[in-house]
Amino acid sequence: MRAIVLGAGVVGVSTAYALARRGVEVLVLDRQPAPALETSYANGGQISACHVTPWATPHTPHQLAKWFGRPEAPLYLPIWKPDLALWRWGLLFLSNTPAAKSRRNLERALRVAMHSRNVLKQWRIDANLAYDQRTEGILNFYRDPREFEAACNSNAAMNAHGLDRQIKTTDECVAIEPALAHATKNLVGGIYSPSDESGDARIYTEQLAQAAADLGVVFRFGVSIRSLEASDGRLTGVKVTGGEHIDCDTAVLSLGSFSGKMTESVGFGLPIYPAKGYSITVSTEGRTGAPTVSLIDDENKMVFSRLGERLRAAGTAELNGWSDEINPRRAQVILDKTRALFPNASDYAEPNFWAGLRPSTPDSAPIIGATPVKGLWLNTGHGTLGWTMAAGSGDVIADVVTGQTPAIDLDGLGMNRFGE
Ligand SMILES: Cc1cc2nc3c(=O)[nH]c(=O)nc-3n(C[C@H](O)[C@H](O)[C@H](O)COP(=O)(O)OP(=O)(O)OC[C@H]3O[C@@H](n4cnc5c(N)ncnc54)[C@H](O)[C@@H]3O)c2cc1C
Repeated sequence: MRAIVLGAGVVGVSTAYALARRGVEVLVLDRQPAPALETSYANGGQISACHVTPWATPHTPHQLAKWFGRPEAPLYLPIWKPDLALWRWGLLFLSNTPAAKSRRNLERALRVAMHSRNVLKQWRIDANLAYDQRTEGILNFYRDPREFEAACNSNAAMNAHGLDRQIKTTDECVAIEPALAHATKNLVGGIYSPSDESGDARIYTEQLAQAAADLGVVFRFGVSIRSLEASDGRLTGVKVTGGEHIDCDTAVLSLGSFSGKMTESVGFGLPIYPAKGYSITVSTEGRTGAPTVSLIDDENKMVFSRLGERLRAAGTAELNGWSDEINPRRAQVILDKTRALFPNASDYAEPNFWAGLRPSTPDSAPIIGATPVKGLWLNTGHGTLGWTMAAGSGDVIADVVTGQTPAIDLDGLGMNRFGE
């Protein structure tokens, strides 16, 4: 069997590797000169099943009202933007805020994340991957007693799905991560997920791409995909830069935030909207105040991961179109908050600023499965947790494409859920 994978971010590369493990001849196409040069480049570095709570919850409308139009808020929504895609996405998002839907969406995302964690561990051994990984878990810390209580209340649901999340006092948080000692007067407690992990997603993706190439996967970089081609409801090929047509009857689309624009060429759209986020990376060389356990700062919607001799801080979201241009004001907020929390982690002299577009669905679950075009499959829309879910979703889409029964139930993960 032959297949084309569209996109060489962490999701496309995982898909290609999983297909190659099943004996499929794979060609990967990407417009960049190497893997992981768009959203998978400098993300928060967490493999965090603990972080699957969807963005749309019963509390979200209240939070949105608080943040609306404020350029420094964790979520930035422009006051007025004549963008039909954003308005459509926003309505679907709001329809997912009721408690029952939020719980359902959490379970769907958690199903993929838990499977992914196991698949990643296996691939790490099989492909001998080393990517500044740390396996001491992830600690989520809280300043607001109400947010902490809400998070504790959702613990039971997560534990019921097999995720070990432990409620911790402030002192216990500091025992887990001593670098937090500086911040204790503001903390009310934390939740620790010992089995979550962290590392550098770009290095991981590059190494997995090499492992895929060793299994025979061919990568064509610098190739911009212009459109998909179909006839009589079946995929026939892909048109790329320079008008070249590449024949194919099987393809998996993993183009991140650009996935929906591409499927329009064969007659259907996808509710995937880019949620721009920022990261900074600073050197920790010669310093002792940087955290080693990966952290989530719930109030500021930021995450911190130690990557060897570097500290990565990432967060915030901006629903403002497809540009990944860095807004210096919002990037500076991440730097300032990191320095305030960990003053001795770095000299903060030469931070690397980065912005990427999270491919976000209105219900925070990825889109995995078939399309109305026979032979065209989707593995996209992983939003805020693309690395967390990449190995698992690559594994299950490879099963589906090759006619095998996937390891997890894919109910509620296909594109048809948005027509419900
Ligand atoms: C600030 C920030 C922090 C984050 N933190 C985390 C985290 O801690 N943990 C986590 O799990 N996730 C995190 N994420 C989310 C995660 O990074 C993404 O979900 C993930 O990278 C998406 O991967 P992808 O392969 O779908 O998309 P991408 O990495 O964007 O890959 C898509 C690929 O498609 C290619 N492409 C697009 N259009 C075309 C075209 N027309 N022709 C050819 N090629 C094309 C691009 O070049 C790109 O290589 C974070 C994201 C951001 C922005």
